[in-house]
Amino acid sequence: MIMQPINNSYDVVIVGARCAGAATAMLLAELGLRVLVFDKSRLGSDTVSTHALMRPAVLLLNRWGVTDRLEEEGTPRIERTAFLYADDHGSEAVEVDIKPRHGVDALYAPRRTVLDRVLAEAAREGGADVRHGVQMLDLLRSRAGRVSGVVLRDESGDVREVQAGLVIGADGRRSKVAQLVGATPYVWGRYATSCAFGYFRNLPVDGNRWYYRPGMGVGAIPTNDGQTLLFAAVPEDFASGSAAERGGTFVRVIGDSAPDIGPRLRAAERVGKLRFFPGMRGFLRQPWGEGWALVGDAGYMSDPITAHGITNALRDADILARTIGYGGDLADYQMARDDLSLKFFEISDRVASYDWDIPTVQQYHRMMSQEMNREEEAMVAMESASASAA
Ligand SMILES: Cc1cc2nc3c(=O)[nH]c(=O)nc-3n(C[C@H](O)[C@H](O)[C@H](O)COP(=O)(O)OP(=O)(O)OC[C@H]3O[C@@H](n4cnc5c(N)ncnc54)[C@H](O)[C@@H]3O)c2cc1C
Repeated sequence: MIMQPINNSYDVVIVGARCAGAATAMLLAELGLRVLVFDKSRLGSDTVSTHALMRPAVLLLNRWGVTDRLEEEGTPRIERTAFLYADDHGSEAVEVDIKPRHGVDALYAPRRTVLDRVLAEAAREGGADVRHGVQMLDLLRSRAGRVSGVVLRDESGDVREVQAGLVIGADGRRSKVAQLVGATPYVWGRYATSCAFGYFRNLPVDGNRWYYRPGMGVGAIPTNDGQTLLFAAVPEDFASGSAAERGGTFVRVIGDSAPDIGPRLRAAERVGKLRFFPGMRGFLRQPWGEGWALVGDAGYMSDPITAHGITNALRDADILARTIGYGGDLADYQMARDDLSLKFFEISDRVASYDWDIPTVQQYHRMMSQEMNREEEAMVAMESASASAA
């Protein structure tokens, strides 16, 4: 496809075109705004992230017509979740079928190579100008100091200026937009989980399986191409030591936490390398200012141990687009985001501390479930309110 040059000006320019950026671009373009969304990475490239989606994410993806496409791409439906707890005193399994509600009757864990691409394609079909291999270098400002656009390096390597009514940073946890506007965190997590993950053939699992033992957590999650995503999380730094040592720790944590998976690992075939994440404390940053806003991890990162970052990113894309589309105040976006985030963030941080015994982590899981129900109801209520206002 021959790409037209990037225009000189747009209503909204979005830096970062993965789940947060692509979803925001799709929603704003569908509201009739002229939107440019770009990413320095390649369309369909991977990123260091596992990808279990929670109910509020599936609710939004259903509403946006994206779930069907994920299924067409071979993303399996996940119809049950098991929480498997064990310590030196014994073990307990809590198995939950996904209850059909608000049109959600299954969960999904699409590979990021699939989810982010499908969302970028939906943004393009919605009317957004979607570019990959394009990097933001700096922000433009008006004389009064308002952010008024970006300096970017385009696909052909040319550096140019693009004006925008609003610049949105969807550029991830190390957001350059946040750094340039001075959006510092006002809430910090105290703990950070380190984890390793990989993909396996010949290791089928029945739904999501989350394993908890004091000091460690493991997940086994069905994903695309008939593969199972296995991850192991520990409080110390997984990324230190040689590759063989880290691989050994991965196998040991799986064996200690997941007795039904460990013995099957030998017969399973690992596809690709193990990937490691050293851990990073979560935060909430000021998500808006004069001419700019932040969405996704750029504005709010929670510890991966509770697998909620993509759900947050899609949810906040929805809230931000509604706020902009209906001419609201960006302070309302921040208020809604924080209302739905702060309690979950605190629970995530406590889980990431690993300073718990099994009854305590079970209590955290019940609290998380309540927060996710509240989040789901809020998504439904916002849609009803928009429908009645239209
Ligand atoms: C190990 C790990 C496991 C995780 N597991 C889960 C899970 O199971 N479920 C879940 O929901 N969440 C999980 N998360 C969290 C999830 O990965 C993030 O919340 C999610 O990726 C946030 O999406 P985003 O679009 O905000 O940012 P990102 O996915 O980080 O995308 C940001 C994009 O911005 C681009 N960018 C950055 N700077 C520029 C620039 N200057 N110019 C152009 N482009 C730029 C980058 O190339 C990148 O593609 C996990 C995270 C980690 C680290």
